[in-house]
Amino acid sequence: MSQDNLVKLECTVCKRITHITEKNKKKLSKVRLQLMKYCRFCKKHTLHKETK
Ligand SMILES: [Zn+2]
Repeated sequence: MSQDNLVKLECTVCKRITHITEKNKKKLSKVRLQLMKYCRFCKKHTLHKETK
């Protein structure tokens, strides 16, 4: 299993990595992810961004 597709999602509020997801290269290769995810540190949904 390759790790190339793994994307870490960082909470933009507390700057922690709260989610790790797989990136679909075909669809998202050039798009930097920004999405609302639940942050267990902030205890609410916050904006997350892709980080390496
Ligand atoms: Zn957070």
